[in-house]
Amino acid sequence: MNGLKEMTPLLSCPDDHSPLVAHSGHLSCPLCRRDYPVLGENFIDLLPGSPSFNNGDNTGYQSYYQKEFSRKSRLILNARAWGRLDLNTASWAKKRRRQVRFVSKLLSRTPVICDISAGAGTYTFDLVKRFPLVIHCDLSIVNLNDVYQRKQAQKINNLVLIRCDYFKLPFNHSMPQLICLDTLVRGQFHEIQLLSSLLSAVSKTGTILADFHNWWHNPLRRLGLLPNNFDTSYTQRQAEELLKKSGINAWDHYPFHQEILPEANSFLRKILPPTRLLYIFRKHENSANS
Ligand SMILES: [Zn+2]
Repeated sequence: MNGLKEMTPLLSCPDDHSPLVAHSGHLSCPLCRRDYPVLGENFIDLLPGSPSFNNGDNTGYQSYYQKEFSRKSRLILNARAWGRLDLNTASWAKKRRRQVRFVSKLLSRTPVICDISAGAGTYTFDLVKRFPLVIHCDLSIVNLNDVYQRKQAQKINNLVLIRCDYFKLPFNHSMPQLICLDTLVRGQFHEIQLLSSLLSAVSKTGTILADFHNWWHNPLRRLGLLPNNFDTSYTQRQAEELLKKSGINAWDHYPFHQEILPEANSFLRKILPPTRLLYIFRKHENSANS
């Protein structure tokens, strides 16, 4: 499996969840008759008809989401995604690569893996070396174009890019494995909506790997020596309360320390709270709520 046509059975209309039909240059929904344009090789727009996220309490994210949603889907030359490893400092990129290595050890061997809010492709370009098919989902047309250009330049043929709304994902209980990292940072309303959307996208035996930021990056803040002034930072207890509010009651927890090599058996890991709280949860253990 290495392309859009082969993966069409995994896709559904984001508005009514009907199976989609592949044509030359577009996919179509037989129920609502919408066409979804193919923008480039293995690159498709699967946005719903209208934006679905609405939270007046978080006006910053709400306006970002509306603005991104309203951008036209098209190919953009020389697009630059925020957070590209090669366009940031070496020390910043090094910490991100540590997290990629940590995450890669937690993943199951599935024929398909999907990254939701995949951004600049920090995980994507590692995943394509390990999985037969990788689906990179993002709302931002700029981010997607940046990844598309690099995919084409590197001749990667097991990567499909999908422009989508995270709250109306174009998968109907079809994905065997989803990851959603560095994204649950918008406040409880957003987090609960997103977790619910992820659960509806995975198959009966599917798994989800998600993370929460824990007092962001500063070690002094994590030790309680500085105030926690981030509204969207979570302690382990808070993250797990949020999972339960989202109908997720069974999980495996994996703390990640960005300062410490994933392979190292460091004393620091015992005394310093982690920067990321990673959780794996399985559909069949939480299926009563999705
Ligand atoms: Zn439809």
